[in-house]
Amino acid sequence: MMNSPHETFLRENHAFFTDLRHKIHQNPELGFEEEQTSQMVANLLQEWGYEVHRGLAKTGVVGSLKVGNSNKTIGLRADMDALPIVETTGKAWQSQIKGKFHGCGHDGHTVSLLAAAQALAHSKNFNGTVRVIFQPAEELLYGGKVMLQDGLFEQFPCDVIFGLHNMPTLPAGEFYFREGAFMASCDTLHIHVHGKGGHGAMPEHTIDATLIACQIAVALQTIVSRNVGALQQGVITVGAIQSGDAPNVINDYALMKLSVRSLSPEVRELLLKRIGEVAEFQAKSFGATAKVEHINGCPAVMNGAAATQFATEVAQNLVGADKVHTNCPPLMGSEDFAFMLEANPNGCYCFIGNGDGNMVHHPNYDFNDEIIVPAAAYWCALVEDYLR
Ligand SMILES: [Zn+2]
Ligand SMILES: [Zn+2]
Repeated sequence: MMNSPHETFLRENHAFFTDLRHKIHQNPELGFEEEQTSQMVANLLQEWGYEVHRGLAKTGVVGSLKVGNSNKTIGLRADMDALPIVETTGKAWQSQIKGKFHGCGHDGHTVSLLAAAQALAHSKNFNGTVRVIFQPAEELLYGGKVMLQDGLFEQFPCDVIFGLHNMPTLPAGEFYFREGAFMASCDTLHIHVHGKGGHGAMPEHTIDATLIACQIAVALQTIVSRNVGALQQGVITVGAIQSGDAPNVINDYALMKLSVRSLSPEVRELLLKRIGEVAEFQAKSFGATAKVEHINGCPAVMNGAAATQFATEVAQNLVGADKVHTNCPPLMGSEDFAFMLEANPNGCYCFIGNGDGNMVHHPNYDFNDEIIVPAAAYWCALVEDYLR
């Protein structure tokens, strides 16, 4: 079915990795708490002959396997963290920890990369070094960043890097690529609005922080519509306005929480600059103050041209050109593999279809175990083609 020398081996081990996926699914761990999962990953890699490093970004694991005498290196990344969601699938392997759930399929990503790591170590049919990178806290959008800060690419240089994510609703086992911006940057901001509190019946003695926060929320929506070019993309979402709890009190303080997305560094910079100006001057016009606090930010996923071309051809050769989609539209969701691509732009992130079913982050979502084999075969093919 696939053009992979590993297909038989991967299928022989499919039951083992399916069981393993279910075990991880039953015991989900949130960002930076992936102790059991990373322990299990490290143990298996060690067993298969990888040189294993633990502790980057607390629970991150890097396995390296060198074959032959080439100095070329390739890095493959998977994520291990779960989400704070109550699962409702009712499946036999449903989460045993209420409020924690592998609702994004990182359990499946972890076992798919493990399955590839095992197959690569089994055949040793490449010349160079493969590094399998298991990162924590992708959902927090900075687990990858912390791995870099902890010296990921200094200690484990990679000539080229690849990432992969499952995507529900797309046909199972088909591949989706795009050169350039594929997923959006994401910045989380808090805006602190300070006015003057008082009695709800005497507004003339107050500066109503709640009302001003509402004015700011409306004014912010002019940025994408009037400052960003019509052919460029941006999203500003005011996800929360928190202020007061009594009907007859005018509040001196309101907290706004924003999520800001874009597909280019230029638009990202523009959005952040204009949010600051709009918030500050809107507040000023009412006699209040607004301070913007940058909570965290993740750049857009920018796929390198050469690496995308290479990965696309590898996938086409593996599953056939009719199951590989190129120039796919970008998504406004975010992914912290973007930090690794920012540090090493020679890389490519793609989607693999998860088949029909609920979208990731839905309480009824589940990873499709049938895509473990094609995902692992893709990883193996990348390594063996690059380190030929
Ligand atoms: Zn997710
Ligand atoms: Zn995810």
